[in-house]
Amino acid sequence: MQHLRDLPAETPDGHRLELHANSGLFADIAAARDSGVQGVGLYRSELHFFLRDRFPGEEEQTTLYTRVLRIMEPYPVVLRTLDIGGDKPLPYFPIIEQNPFLGWRGIRISLDQPDLFKTQLRAMLRAGIAYPNLSILLPMISSVSELSEALELLRGAQTELQEEGMAIPTPRVGIMVEVPSAVYQIDALIQMVDFASIGSNDLTQYLLAVDRNNDRVAKLYDSLHPAVLKAIQQVIERVQAAGRPVSVCGEMAGDPAAALLLMAMGVDSLSMNLGGLLKIKWMIRSIPYAEARTLLAEAMTLNNTAAIRDRVNAFLDQRGLGGPLRIGK
Ligand code: PEP
Ligand code: MG
Repeated sequence: MQHLRDLPAETPDGHRLELHANSGLFADIAAARDSGVQGVGLYRSELHFFLRDRFPGEEEQTTLYTRVLRIMEPYPVVLRTLDIGGDKPLPYFPIIEQNPFLGWRGIRISLDQPDLFKTQLRAMLRAGIAYPNLSILLPMISSVSELSEALELLRGAQTELQEEGMAIPTPRVGIMVEVPSAVYQIDALIQMVDFASIGSNDLTQYLLAVDRNNDRVAKLYDSLHPAVLKAIQQVIERVQAAGRPVSVCGEMAGDPAAALLLMAMGVDSLSMNLGGLLKIKWMIRSIPYAEARTLLAEAMTLNNTAAIRDRVNAFLDQRGLGGPLRIGK
């Protein structure tokens, strides 16, 4: 598959999308760069916070983000603001809750702890002075007022830095669509930002009411559930109708059966763990877009997850792609 490294993710009939890497650690960024990836679609900034025994300060974060942007330049890097809470508690910031996935997590913590959020935003903005490949992504957005508040704090951080004499370019800002309310408010939300990234891990969890880490209900967790596919299709359509790009950055992007349907929905980019990226590229380069669209239309008429997965797998099998691409479920 290495021969695919420098080839575009383009179908035989000329439909192209971007494949980006998910990351959060340096080693991954360097590996991403070496593997010919044309951008980091999701940089999970919290991973760096987990490696420390206290919140990293502005200088430390500025150095970190600058290095990440520099390594990937000129390709885009999407730095996601802190997404702790839920299944990601920080050892030095314990949160005890009965229902952490429905509790204090992601942007909710950032808005309630504006000093913490400001420090991170200032660091990201400072890193962006020399590196215009910066985008900022806000996790767990569930309402317009939450997004307004986050954007207000971002503008405040930018103004502060400008008053301190720094020439801060305005970064591209996006939202994660991973809470069902954001699906239904996408028309309003997307007007306020530059792009959207669909977090299929959480979106699946919240749409299906299945804890993504609970083995007992693991068999119910599947992003090929028709409701999840409908929600994603709707978001892709609405974001593109607003003239903005949309990506999928959850695990689904690296699942060949799911990635095939996402491609057919016309998603602009898929961001995934580096390990599976060349396989997905190989699949995209093997299947005409027109055929994928026909498959999607058929899959969207099916009312259960197993039937959808079977249909997509049968399609891959018929083209001799089944074996190498098949993954569990
Ligand atoms: C997601 O929810 O799909 C996502 C990419 O974010 P995380 O897995 O970090 O919550
Ligand atoms: Mg998420």
